[in-house]
Amino acid sequence: MKCSTHPNADATAVCIHCGQALCPSCTTKSESGRVVCSAACSAALLRTEQALDSLRARSVSSLRSAGSMMLATAVVFAGFGSFEVYSGVARLGFLLFPAGLVFGITGLAYLRIAKRKEQRDNAA
Ligand SMILES: [Zn+2]
Ligand SMILES: [Zn+2]
Repeated sequence: MKCSTHPNADATAVCIHCGQALCPSCTTKSESGRVVCSAACSAALLRTEQALDSLRARSVSSLRSAGSMMLATAVVFAGFGSFEVYSGVARLGFLLFPAGLVFGITGLAYLRIAKRKEQRDNAA
């Protein structure tokens, strides 16, 4: 593959944003250290990366809030369930316990996914 601006020079890299073939003299580094062809591609790449970052951060925090909300629901269900069983309305109580259990398990799973996601993002 040859450089797209210098037909005589061998391309050693490809712009990560627009895919242009680049020789060593055309290669520029973006702020995040990626290979780009121009300042315009560097700026566009930076915007994309920032958008991705905020999306990732949002999904971790939204996973976490969904998880804690489910755990809170589980606690409420278990509380109501034991109250119903205690006060003799056993049928409703036995309905609330499994529902609370499901919410609790799902909530814990959400929190664990959020934690793993965060660790992976920090490592990357
Ligand atoms: Zn480019
Ligand atoms: Zn070139």
